[in-house]
Amino acid sequence: MTTIASNLQAVRNAMDAAAAKAGRAPDDIGLLAVSKTFAPEAIREAYRAGQTRFAESYVQEALHKIAALHDLPIEWHYIGPVQGNKTRAIAEHFAWVHSVDRLKIAERLSGQRPAHLPPLQMCLQVNISNEASKSGVPPEETAQLATAIAHLPHLRLRGLMAIPEPSGEIAAQRAAFARLRKLREQLNRQGLQLDTLSMGMSHDFAAAIAEGATMVRVGSAIFGRREYPAKGN
Ligand SMILES: *Cc1c(COP(=O)(O)O)cnc(C)c1O
Repeated sequence: MTTIASNLQAVRNAMDAAAAKAGRAPDDIGLLAVSKTFAPEAIREAYRAGQTRFAESYVQEALHKIAALHDLPIEWHYIGPVQGNKTRAIAEHFAWVHSVDRLKIAERLSGQRPAHLPPLQMCLQVNISNEASKSGVPPEETAQLATAIAHLPHLRLRGLMAIPEPSGEIAAQRAAFARLRKLREQLNRQGLQLDTLSMGMSHDFAAAIAEGATMVRVGSAIFGRREYPAKGN
């Protein structure tokens, strides 16, 4: 077994264990392999080990890989910052985008989604740790933004995404994830239909699963340490 294949197996086993501990069905939690900074060959290797959903954070880098891997039926997710001049490329080449936090960006993505493709699946990125410097919509403004986005024709609002402030403490990790879970419950009580909680990374996906994550985004635990910063976004 290659390193990537055995890493993937270890992550899947840990996910299943976290689900069992939380009394959840393992099938309710999807694994998104975060391949930013890694070469197409690494993605191919993960694909051969059964992984079909991959996430990228830099548009330019992602477009090269999507072209290089067009022979594989990969579901591509965009999880990086969305700049206004990159919305067309995202709308044309990705199945999902997890990192939308402004109506203007959502409107552009909807308007630029090609007619022959299914609606672009979308999560709102929420600033769950309330840090002034971080991206994400403040929790108290999420309902209004979600309601506006839910009306756009070529998008399908699926849920919420967050990148909480890192913490070594399992209790602190869980508290942040619990806030996102409660926010989704609140929005659904207000009439939205959000089925996705995109939360948890290599160091905290078990805590995220304990608090209801439906999709975890795991990079380094699968592909290894990222050795160089991606360029040319
Ligand atoms: C890079 C990244 C990840 C994966 O992080 P790891 O710690 O390598 O698992 C997850 N989510 C987002 C938004 C990222 O940018």
